[in-house]
Amino acid sequence: MQTRIKTIPILPFGMLNAFLAIGPGGAILVDTGLPGSTRLISRALEAAELGWRDIKLIVLTHGHIDHAGSAADIRRLTGAPVLYHTLEMRYCMGERPVLHPTRLFGRLFLMTGAIERPFPPVTADIQMQGESFDLKTLGFAGTVWHTPGHTPGSVSLLLSGGDVLAGDLAASGILLGGIALLDRPERPPFEEHPHIAARSLEELLSMGAKRFYLGHGGPLGVEPIARHAARLKRL
Ligand SMILES: [Zn+2]
Ligand SMILES: [Zn+2]
Repeated sequence: MQTRIKTIPILPFGMLNAFLAIGPGGAILVDTGLPGSTRLISRALEAAELGWRDIKLIVLTHGHIDHAGSAADIRRLTGAPVLYHTLEMRYCMGERPVLHPTRLFGRLFLMTGAIERPFPPVTADIQMQGESFDLKTLGFAGTVWHTPGHTPGSVSLLLSGGDVLAGDLAASGILLGGIALLDRPERPPFEEHPHIAARSLEELLSMGAKRFYLGHGGPLGVEPIARHAARLKRL
């Protein structure tokens, strides 16, 4: 049976998403939303007829508050190991992130201080060191790949069918992401290295990624992602 993706809307209109990758042996939770998102995630589990104990792994695509904010709580509830890349440890452990706004919204958002708020730090039970982590041992046909760009330790989960959970490697929509123009690729409000993000996107495409599920907006297909990567390289 193939792994299916269920989107967990942390904020409405696609503004902020977490995801469940559901396979025959349980589920992987990809990102955990802002602090206080446990009820939203538990509701999504119920809707998929799953419970906390069905979560076999928690993958943090990166250590920003809107993705890692509830990770410590959810590890307590599930007992599942947390995986993130070693280069992301400083953000997951509470260091203020480097934030390069990509447009006006990012600059305004930065002024609110919301993205720099502290959140409960979370240690990694599985600290990814190299380029990839094979999910086979956990019963999933897929791989977590190191896909830097948005942050140095960003990772993406690529499933064998071509679905990829890419965090903030790209976004779509307006403002924070989502809301409208969902088929239009956009940079996330913050991005550390656009050229490195472009290379990561192209690597995922070359490895067979077909459908990109994103933290803000999405999902996007091959063509808009290729177009977006080309645009990033011109910056
Ligand atoms: Zn981010
Ligand atoms: Zn984000």
